Amino acid sequence: MTMAMTITLNNLLGRVKKNNPSANLELIKKAYDFADGAHQGQKRMSGADYINHPLATAYHLAKMKLNSTTIAAALLHDVVDDTPLSNEDIKREFGREIAFLVENISKLGKIKYRGVGRQVENLRKLFLAMAKDIRVILIKLCDRADNLKSLNYLPENKQRRIAQESLEIYAPLANRLGMGELKGQLEDLAFYYVYPKECQELKESVKEKYQQRQEYLRRIKPIIEKELKKENIKPIEIQFRAKHYYSLYKKLKRYDNDLNKIYDLVALRIIVGNIEDCYKTLGILHKLWRPLPGRIKDYIALPKPNGYQSLHTTVFCIQGEIVEFQIKTPEMHQKAEFGIAAHWYYSEQKGLKAYLKRKIIKPPEDKLNWIKQLTQWQEETKGILPEKYLESLKIDFFNNRIFVFTPKGDVIDLPEGATPIDFAYAIHTEIGNRCNGAKINGKLESLSSKLHNGDLIEIMIDKNKKPSSDWLKLVKTNLARSHIRKVLEKYQQELPKKELKPIQKEPSLSRPPLIKKPLLKTEVASSKIILAGQSGLFYRLAQCCSPQPGDKIKAYITKNKGASIHQINCPNFQNLKRKWPQRIIDACWEKKND
Ligand code: MN
Repeated sequence: MTMAMTITLNNLLGRVKKNNPSANLELIKKAYDFADGAHQGQKRMSGADYINHPLATAYHLAKMKLNSTTIAAALLHDVVDDTPLSNEDIKREFGREIAFLVENISKLGKIKYRGVGRQVENLRKLFLAMAKDIRVILIKLCDRADNLKSLNYLPENKQRRIAQESLEIYAPLANRLGMGELKGQLEDLAFYYVYPKECQELKESVKEKYQQRQEYLRRIKPIIEKELKKENIKPIEIQFRAKHYYSLYKKLKRYDNDLNKIYDLVALRIIVGNIEDCYKTLGILHKLWRPLPGRIKDYIALPKPNGYQSLHTTVFCIQGEIVEFQIKTPEMHQKAEFGIAAHWYYSEQKGLKAYLKRKIIKPPEDKLNWIKQLTQWQEETKGILPEKYLESLKIDFFNNRIFVFTPKGDVIDLPEGATPIDFAYAIHTEIGNRCNGAKINGKLESLSSKLHNGDLIEIMIDKNKKPSSDWLKLVKTNLARSHIRKVLEKYQQELPKKELKPIQKEPSLSRPPLIKKPLLKTEVASSKIILAGQSGLFYRLAQCCSPQPGDKIKAYITKNKGASIHQINCPNFQNLKRKWPQRIIDACWEKKND
């Protein structure tokens, strides 16, 4: 059983100060006193003083480097629900922003379950509040993580439901927001209650293996340090990263429960100063040890849809042991642990003035697009059964996601297992409705093909084409499914009319399709270019200067569309190089006889 550590006000203040010396500690102290007074005499189910819970929640947020306002709101989050004080009292004392956060967290209700309907109703509220201010969900997630730590004091049926909801909704939500650390915590805490037997067996069976791996990696570390030093790379940190139990459990199920097939049970994480050093470090590792084919993953050039960036490789290490390495910069590391929360920290550091004015600082718009989609989608699904709602929510938003590209290089974010039809509907309803074929990476493929991360998709359209009912079996997204249904229903309704009137009318297009002719482009080349000494990494040729084999080239690591290859004299490239010198890496053409 996890024992909840008791956090004091001083722990909290110390943590906040360490992150940001100019943080508003007075505000936090005031919020603490207010909450402590309000909860006076109240106990948790565990018998501990109630204030321990808001304190632990606030501390978690402080670890994620959130600002003082958010931390104050976390301290106050249960005041309205559990004490005679009202939201008006909070507004008077702390102002509108904090009152808004507290009000929306309390609105979500306390952990009371009255079936799936109630749960769905709470989720809808949660998503609406999230769209207004994403910090509502950050506080809610930390609140949930702390509640899971004292779950053993609740009756058994409640334990299971809360844990299940955490596994199915809250952890995927944290994942979607890029908060890897919180996701792992929520999952591991809930794992024990949802699958008690499996959880205990797993922990027992990996205990020894974990230790062996750690010891082995401890011997590897100095070898790497020495080699990096030779190339003038100073690692900021080399750390061991043990896989979280629940994600190990899920992975084992995919690998016949064979622990020997799990190479990242304990991985080595190398944190270096900049992107160029990341690629150089990868090259050094590959010179030392032979990489396993197909296991080099360049999430720097092609980040995961939740923003995760890192280079992964798996090598045959000394004594033939197989080891996974993860290479990243400190900023990538910070973002992988704290995801969307990291944006407040970085923007607060930059905008101290804005902070002092207590302006609400928000992460960039494009990070929040999917949340907007989520609120729109809620409107569309209002009438459907709660069970169906949860099911499609999991598929449309919380499944593993993939990134695919339009011919123009726009990124479309889809659930794993999505097909070209899902892609077509994600671009435009009429492109979906008129979809007649698809090219994946330049090759004609069937509409039932599963798309993969990084694929470039072109949709062929035919203005006379209509969706068929078979498509319902091929699509993965709720969006595509509901559009197909709409057309099928409309078509069926039109049938009797057509029988009455002899003149056949084609259903008119409400909007002209966006793409008239499929674009033919082969901008994603195969492994012909070597990046920083590595072949097989993801890249694309820049359209501005379209380099040809033999041209002198360099690569620019774009923010989310991979490495783009330019001719070195390309004016665009010269500009990029001036602005972002740390994003430029070496590139050359692979020799033909290689
Ligand atoms: Mn709470």
